[in-house]
Amino acid sequence: MNIDFEQLKNIDLAAISAEQVKRQLAMPAAFSIERLAALISPAATAFIEDMARLSSELTIRRFGRTINLYAPLYVSNYCVNACVYCGYNCKTHVQRTRLTVEEAMADADILAGQGFRHILLVAGEDKKYIDADYLSRLGEKLRGKFASISIEVYQLELDEYEKLAAAGVDGMTLYQETYDRDIYAKLHCGPKADYDRRLLAHETAAKAGFRRVGLGSLLGLTDFRFETLALGAHAAWLMKNFWRTQVSFSFPRLRPAAEVDFNFAQDVSDTDLVQMIFALRLCFADSVMYLSTRERGAFRDNLIGLGITSMSAGSKTNPGGYTGSNALEQFNISDPRTPDEVARAIEAKGFEPVWKDFDAAFAK
Ligand code: SF4
Repeated sequence: MNIDFEQLKNIDLAAISAEQVKRQLAMPAAFSIERLAALISPAATAFIEDMARLSSELTIRRFGRTINLYAPLYVSNYCVNACVYCGYNCKTHVQRTRLTVEEAMADADILAGQGFRHILLVAGEDKKYIDADYLSRLGEKLRGKFASISIEVYQLELDEYEKLAAAGVDGMTLYQETYDRDIYAKLHCGPKADYDRRLLAHETAAKAGFRRVGLGSLLGLTDFRFETLALGAHAAWLMKNFWRTQVSFSFPRLRPAAEVDFNFAQDVSDTDLVQMIFALRLCFADSVMYLSTRERGAFRDNLIGLGITSMSAGSKTNPGGYTGSNALEQFNISDPRTPDEVARAIEAKGFEPVWKDFDAAFAK
């Protein structure tokens, strides 16, 4: 990858005028760094209603009146890294658990019984407990019950992603956390401290045949406007080079976690977050956009139809959480509603909750 993310800091967003924003709003949706800069600029906040309307029209035109539902399944909270903002970092005194494949299947059965057909396997980084072999064995067992299996784990090597793809895992999400190299270095320690290696994960997964790769920045670590530009540049590069692979966006705002005393460098407000979602939607019409239970229920409901296309529901962020484990959560969720309650809220907005929008048979 040959993107100079540092150079994006030289774009003077404060100098962008209302006229430049209006010009971009009159143009069809397509990515350019100039367009994304205009839409994420401070001047664009005066046009947030226009952005919402355009984002809504575009999202409904491309995705229909639907919201896809998925659930995370935490399989391990062992981690060798010490990310300063995370409750699972190796310096906290959390009781560590790794689910056996059978235990993970017991949690997965509960999710399948609730209606989910899209599942996201989540784990900290410790190859002693979670490796490609474990994930592929789990993938093989899950593929009969779930239409789409994704992972949110540490970056793997090409042959490991290939092994998972062969086992039926079709998607991966991996947040760069921040594209600011200096801040990244200050916040991370352990194998994850290798910024450049982490940056290669999505293209490696795409080369291995993954159907979907997901990008995100952990919002609150740095300036959200810079992160938006970086996400756009990264997504555009992936789309150009791996046109068969869908590139999606997530918008994880930092949440409090046990034993974490982290001073959020930047508070990202609700308005900041919706501007980010609209700006990216108006550049990437076809991208799936996720909003998790990190966010409050009322806030999530208000974003239905405005850009977001996929939501988690009823999430437990601890290993074994669905079968009643009281292992500590990675972070506190903000939307505790059951999957049924979330589905009803989607319907109340005039949208259809979709539990399955893909089948591996389509990809053959
Ligand atoms: S964010 Fe991930 S890699 Fe970092 S400490 Fe937490 S679980 Fe480990």
